[in-house]
Amino acid sequence: MIQLLSTDFDGTLVDHGGDPQVSPRFLEALAFLKRRGVLWAVNTGRELQHIVDGLREFQFPFDPDYVLTSEREVFHRGANGCWQDYGDWNRRCALVHQQLYSDAAPLLRDVEEYLRVHGLAHPIYEGEHLIGLAADSDAEMDRVCDFLDRERVRVPGFQYMRNSVYVRFCHEDYSKGTALAELARLTGIGVDGIFAAGDHYNDLPMLDGRHARWVACPSNSVDAVKEAVRRTGGCVASAPASEGVLQAFETFGMLEGFHSELHRRP
Ligand SMILES: [Mg+2]
Repeated sequence: MIQLLSTDFDGTLVDHGGDPQVSPRFLEALAFLKRRGVLWAVNTGRELQHIVDGLREFQFPFDPDYVLTSEREVFHRGANGCWQDYGDWNRRCALVHQQLYSDAAPLLRDVEEYLRVHGLAHPIYEGEHLIGLAADSDAEMDRVCDFLDRERVRVPGFQYMRNSVYVRFCHEDYSKGTALAELARLTGIGVDGIFAAGDHYNDLPMLDGRHARWVACPSNSVDAVKEAVRRTGGCVASAPASEGVLQAFETFGMLEGFHSELHRRP
């Protein structure tokens, strides 16, 4: 019995090149699951305001129950209706990253120098901290990631999350997977009751079976994600984005009663 959905947003629910960008049939199915008491978390690389804007931009008819943002933070609705920290995870996460940036200062200076000399990608700053980078193409990002993989071993715990041509630096203990595990702990839902779907490298930590028993990816996913989902015994859909997630709902038998409910409508 699936009780909690953890879905990536861009590329998994929203097909930016599609028409429609979000499948109306998928939204009907999601509304059906919510009526059955299933909880829905958007688990995204976007920051909080950026996902709030995204839900409005793509006209989702209802909000998720939770938003897991920046590939690591956990928010729920506060009594005032605003998104707020769920438990103390975000505070601990911030402290760990403060320490990580301090430990990684020499490494980050070398990353800046590498980008300056090779011109393969552009640094992204938050305040004085180099928090990630963006490349012009996947091929350029492949080369930058080779460099990061060689160098990151210098700082214990230093990891990065890649989403297409973007990279965000992080501590290896904080990912979409561990944020989902924290949400599972807070809601008291076990791994067997959790569904996760994603399409890119930054989704891998929630698709390896440790944090969600039921995993899926749409047809537009990168090969590494499709391989991970196959290894976990999940559903590699033949349809893109939200149509693919809908296919996974069907495959896992989550929509029993959905079609007859549709037919009963006046
Ligand atoms: Mg995505």
